[in-house]
Amino acid sequence: MTKKLYKNLSNKYSYKREGCSLCGQTTTKHVQGVPICNKCLKMKSIDSQFSDEDIQLLNEIKKSKITPKEFSLLSKNLEQSRPDTAQPYTCKQTHVKIGVISDTHIGSKFYDSQLMDEAAKNFTKNKVNFVVHAGDICEGHYENRRQGSVFELSEVGGDAQVKRAVKELSKIKQPIYAITGNHEYNTFYRLCGFEIGEQLQEKLPNFHYLGNAKGVINLPFGQKMELIHPDGGTAYALSYKPQKIIEAMDGGTKPAIAVIGHFHKMEHLYYRNVHTFQAGTLQSQTTFMRNRSISAGKGYWILDVKVGKKGISSIKTEMFNAY
Ligand SMILES: [Zn+2]
Ligand SMILES: [Zn+2]
Repeated sequence: MTKKLYKNLSNKYSYKREGCSLCGQTTTKHVQGVPICNKCLKMKSIDSQFSDEDIQLLNEIKKSKITPKEFSLLSKNLEQSRPDTAQPYTCKQTHVKIGVISDTHIGSKFYDSQLMDEAAKNFTKNKVNFVVHAGDICEGHYENRRQGSVFELSEVGGDAQVKRAVKELSKIKQPIYAITGNHEYNTFYRLCGFEIGEQLQEKLPNFHYLGNAKGVINLPFGQKMELIHPDGGTAYALSYKPQKIIEAMDGGTKPAIAVIGHFHKMEHLYYRNVHTFQAGTLQSQTTFMRNRSISAGKGYWILDVKVGKKGISSIKTEMFNAY
């Protein structure tokens, strides 16, 4: 068993010389792209393959370019300082109803507050277990890249947008698991480190922040659902970008369900065994979109999901369109 597993793991090795993510010693061994030396690999015991969470953590350590000495100093109080936000949500039910919203762009004059009312009521009526939000919760402040966009804001500034978002999102009575998108990241976060996801988590008891651009919800039997908010422009073909995203995923790490925001489109695509949803938007077509002939796929979803041992055994989807 160990030999077979070792072979599987070594197939994933590359031979670049790098510092081990755990002890810093030079090594050519990599596990799923993360450098790790033989000693640490043994310590980790190759009988138990790395969990997704381990890989994520090791990748973060690798990216941070932190030295081993700094790492050991930091790790002493890592447990206390690690934000809740980094933890994926674990859903234990095999039959679950999920409300899906995305790209609400609260703070924009084009945000449709009535549609939020409707969605919130519908989620309660349909007894959804929780709601996911695939990013661009707030509009942010794109003045640096999209001149004149300040005139399309209903709330200007981080505090005002957070306040309005708290009011709007509290219409939803179920737990909300959410990521932030390019609107929060490229504007408030990159310009001054203002993290709207964490602000909302502090102020809204039912709001759980899963991270920027990507968030994970663990489903039973080791399966998962991913919330994804890419950046960049839309493609002419509806499914082109989601297909590319799914194609870029590694066989073993693919989620069973992917909920993709950002494109303001609505679609259910079953591709490479991934139920892929383009989540839609609660924002009407903006001037930016109109000038680029991008239509707005306004609406939201309710997914009735049954999780089987080998994968999703069924998904009943209800798509609610708005205009
Ligand atoms: Zn958006
Ligand atoms: Zn976006």
